[in-house]
Amino acid sequence: MSIFNIFKKNELNSPVLHKQKRSLQLEKLNALLNQKLPKETKEKIEQEIYQVKSGDIGEKQVLTVLKNSHMPMYILHDLYLKEGGLHSQIDFLVIARKLIFVIECKNYSNHVYVNAKGRFSILKKDNSQMLIDDPVEQNRRHMELVALLKPDMKKRLRSVVVFTNPYMKVHDEKAPAEISRQLMTADRLLEFFRKQQADSRLSELSDEEMKQCADFFKEKHTKNPVDYTEKYFQTEKPAEEKKAVPVKPVLPRTAVQKPVVVNHAPPKQKLPGMRCPKCRKSLQKSSDGMFYCPGECGMKLGQVFDHKLTETELRNLLGGKTIQCSTQAGMTLVLPDKIQKEWKGKTVYEWKTKLLSKK
Ligand SMILES: [Zn+2]
Repeated sequence: MSIFNIFKKNELNSPVLHKQKRSLQLEKLNALLNQKLPKETKEKIEQEIYQVKSGDIGEKQVLTVLKNSHMPMYILHDLYLKEGGLHSQIDFLVIARKLIFVIECKNYSNHVYVNAKGRFSILKKDNSQMLIDDPVEQNRRHMELVALLKPDMKKRLRSVVVFTNPYMKVHDEKAPAEISRQLMTADRLLEFFRKQQADSRLSELSDEEMKQCADFFKEKHTKNPVDYTEKYFQTEKPAEEKKAVPVKPVLPRTAVQKPVVVNHAPPKQKLPGMRCPKCRKSLQKSSDGMFYCPGECGMKLGQVFDHKLTETELRNLLGGKTIQCSTQAGMTLVLPDKIQKEWKGKTVYEWKTKLLSKK
């Protein structure tokens, strides 16, 4: 360091990037495609893979713009924040000299229309308009969470929604100014930053304050626990167990919530059509509701960890379907495959499992 730099307070003059680790989104989705699933479910998953990939392309475009800005800023990419009951996946949090920009990227392929009330819609092929999720409102919730975590920075927060698909156009001529100001394409982003900062009467943050703020949010970042299995698998469980599911699916759940059926079946009831996957003997049910194989094959088919399988769950497994259930270990995926284990000197067989999220 030269002696002159001692008197120079702020030296940061280019962007610093902090990229969070992606939560293996694509890997998880691709793994699901290899499972036995209904055709429609596979199509939905393929569509989501496509969306994740094209979303990534859009975000990379924004990232390139930010990285080449020659502006002092901390760029936090792909931030997942959680506080209280709230959680937000933030595409970019940019900490600049005066302001903090919360950026939501959208890669819509259709033209977007914003009406005088600020409602967002797209034009369908038959020329009818379809309302879509409001990205400004979505980003407002992101900002709320950021402000909740760091109240001292609340006044510096600015919302930006960037449309990354170059083939679409946003028709926001009629939109309220407050909303249209936040909407832009990636090539306008830096101009917007510069103008907003120049117009702002807030004090400048020092290098140290900017770094502290970036470190704070880096620390707050947690892995996004999006549970794709939750989204795509039909699990039929009593209503009581459903409460334990930690993450709300983004898409509407397809499973039907069935009432709890009290089973008055006599003990050791024979179960038509349910045969042991190991030795093909007809299964039985004990008085405490546990399914078991009466043979000596060693197949422990009635439970997964501490979870007693319901008849529906077991029938799904026997029919080659994957199910998921809540166990002592956490949300667990149960595959219709057997694994061999040694237990107290005997060879036993259990359902193959994958832990989706720890408790
Ligand atoms: Zn058996």
